[in-house]
Amino acid sequence: MIYFVGAGPGAPDLITVRGQKLLKEADVIIYAGSLVNKELLELAKADCQIHNSASMTLEEVIEVMKEAEKKGHMTVRLHTGDPSIYGAIREQMDLLSEEGISYEVVPGVSSFCGAAAALKAEYTLPDVSQTVIITRMAGRTPVPEKEEISLLASHQATMAVFLSAGLLEPLRERLLIGGYKEETPAAIVYKATWPEEQVFYGTVATLPEIAKEVGITKTALILVGDFLGDAYERSRLYDPAFTHQFREAKE
Ligand code: SAH
Repeated sequence: MIYFVGAGPGAPDLITVRGQKLLKEADVIIYAGSLVNKELLELAKADCQIHNSASMTLEEVIEVMKEAEKKGHMTVRLHTGDPSIYGAIREQMDLLSEEGISYEVVPGVSSFCGAAAALKAEYTLPDVSQTVIITRMAGRTPVPEKEEISLLASHQATMAVFLSAGLLEPLRERLLIGGYKEETPAAIVYKATWPEEQVFYGTVATLPEIAKEVGITKTALILVGDFLGDAYERSRLYDPAFTHQFREAKE
């Protein structure tokens, strides 16, 4: 059996209880090198075989899984954050299906949730935005043209931009073309939930300068939108004047 496990955003105690249990039981662990906190590997059994996938191809990863299956071993494939976000798990799952090998996915806390915690922010504020757009700038992995950031920016919803900390000038340009204002609040969260976590506040206009000043080019999320501002409406759910299924209005 292969388990694709979300390691969480960094802090080792932010893996799920299920993920932690599987790590302790695994005969083989293949972890995504650059972003998984190595402290998690200390949970592994003494005789657990541990591989860093950073230097491996997809085929090599699958080969290790196939070998483990042959021996009746259990494998944990440990991905950063939640495996469903830029995790490249689909291609692994499809090859495993072809081989007739069973697998399951254990979710994790994505870094965009870790970043919200670092910011002590709520992405979905009434009257501000009820939508979170998770996206990235095109890098070596292309982004479909219809998802060009300036098109997404036209909604001026809350935006969490992954994998783009080194591309802040073109990101700013596209955010502005799309309709965010220069003064729209923005933040850079570096290594959310790690001991080295750092949070920088600015605006869409100042994003590239902030990153340059503090020397951030990777392992950061860019958050954009008025959810970082001061104005919002109170929620209806906890409004004394509002009745819902579980509570009568007070007046
Ligand atoms: N599956 C992961 C994302 C992997 S893509 C998740 O759910 O979070 C890698 C990108 O995620 C990085 O380039 C960075 O933009 C972001 N990232 C991952 N961990 C992060 C962290 N602790 N703090 C800020 N950004 C992080």
